[in-house]
Amino acid sequence: MIELDISHIRLGERPLIVCDVDDVVLQFIGPFQLFLQSQGHEFLPRSFRLHGNIVSKADGVAIEDQQVSRLIEEFFEAQELWQTPLDRVVETLGRLSEEADVLFLTAMQPRFQEQRRRLLDRMGLLFPLLATEQPKGPIVHALHASRSLPVVFIDDMARNLHSVRDHVADCLLIHLMPNSPVHRFAPAAADDITRAADWAHAAELIETHFLSNTVSRAAPAA
Ligand SMILES: [Mg+2]
Repeated sequence: MIELDISHIRLGERPLIVCDVDDVVLQFIGPFQLFLQSQGHEFLPRSFRLHGNIVSKADGVAIEDQQVSRLIEEFFEAQELWQTPLDRVVETLGRLSEEADVLFLTAMQPRFQEQRRRLLDRMGLLFPLLATEQPKGPIVHALHASRSLPVVFIDDMARNLHSVRDHVADCLLIHLMPNSPVHRFAPAAADDITRAADWAHAAELIETHFLSNTVSRAAPAA
């Protein structure tokens, strides 16, 4: 069981694309660094985490974990002023949505959902949005497990891709992440997870997946 209300999500009789938001649809790490600078801080990409790697520009001392968590919240609160879409994401999802349902599944506290909704709407990304910090695999399972249609999951975090792989059979898993200094420290995804260089590449992988699944489904039984 998942502790998240998904009853308002209505899926059509067509493929499903579940898509992470931060650093997949909206730039996160770049804008967050600019936000930190505006607050007198600096992010040092020394490992794949925010906590412990943000220092005060005044004295170079790492700021406390609690304050880092507060800064992340303040950033999400003000996200409409900072976050911008990734290259080609708006037109690519628009095109894919002609043949598939698109759903945003964002690992963000639900209390910032309104800001995110407004920001996505402003960009023309009108697809439904679920904001939760719960593991993603059980949520995609709850949404899709009873359907026999193609499903795709896109995320920049190996942890989330592995969670969906462990809960959803036959899901095309796409690892899409920015080429940022901190993402060079990101944990690698498993070998059976496809790495996409950008949204154009992701779209190719998705269209191929839909095509091959449709063909095998239409093939007569042996
Ligand atoms: Mg992300």
